[in-house]
Amino acid sequence: SYDELRKCTNNFAERNEIGSGAFGKVYRGLLSDGLVVAIKRAQQGSTQGLLEFKTEIELLSRVHHKNLVGLVGFCFEQEEQMLIYEFMPNGTIRDSLSGKSGIYLDWNRRLYVALGSGTGLAYLHEHANPPIIHRDVKSTNILLDENLTAKVADFGLSKLVSDTSNGHVSTQVKGTMGYLDPEYYQTQQLTEKSDVYSFGVFMLELLTSKRPFENGKYIVHQVRTTMNKDEIEHYGLWDMIDSSIRDTSNLIGFGKFLEITIQCIEDLPEDRPTMSEVVKALETILQNDG
Ligand code: ADP
Repeated sequence: SYDELRKCTNNFAERNEIGSGAFGKVYRGLLSDGLVVAIKRAQQGSTQGLLEFKTEIELLSRVHHKNLVGLVGFCFEQEEQMLIYEFMPNGTIRDSLSGKSGIYLDWNRRLYVALGSGTGLAYLHEHANPPIIHRDVKSTNILLDENLTAKVADFGLSKLVSDTSNGHVSTQVKGTMGYLDPEYYQTQQLTEKSDVYSFGVFMLELLTSKRPFENGKYIVHQVRTTMNKDEIEHYGLWDMIDSSIRDTSNLIGFGKFLEITIQCIEDLPEDRPTMSEVVKALETILQNDG
């Protein structure tokens, strides 16, 4: 209930702060029934478009899937706006890859992270009603629950943030540099295939542990023309792969994984697979693993 959510405000102590993002600060909180939650609290200020916000959020709160970070509640009043999500105790994939969270992802785990997050996105595209384009797929928006299951966070939200930032509803959306597909710069439209592109960049992160931009180099440009492990070695790109992965004796499905990644970051959206096709291909890798 609204009162219940109001009580969460008692949790807004600095020690409970876990991060901050486009929407505002993020806190760890405890609901009276014992559920641990992540509370995103908007900065005070713009209350414009509150009604559109509420309608959209109501829609999002009805989307449930094991690979999506669930929205368990929200509060959208004039004086207080917050979103309450299931708490993900093992942090973001970016935190894992950078060594910040202490969760090491070996190759097998990375395969499951890709499969899990891919499944969440495919659900948004094909089973949510109406379909939802995430618009901001990236390693800081994919989190790990207590069982290290990957869950996609913030779906549908980047639209709201950019819609209200200028006070009126627009179809223009800002994703994140490095994850935006090439056609976005021409059309300013994000589609399901934009999510596929961003997911391809995310898969590159799983391969390399690097951010999409590092040392002034764009990871996609470095890898795009490469089709298999031999070619990677030939072009010297093998060096880009995370050394702990490179040293793994049996990289199950490595060539296939790379192939899917490269298809996802194709220049033309029609050359990219759908998220369900990506999921099927990843499932095949894991099924063939004895
Ligand atoms: P951004 O807008 O940059 O995506 P967010 O507002 O989504 O940032 O989140 C900021 C930080 O808060 C994340 O990097 C993550 O560490 C933490 N966080 C977000 N959601 C959750 C959650 N459901 N459970 C645990 N931590 C979370």
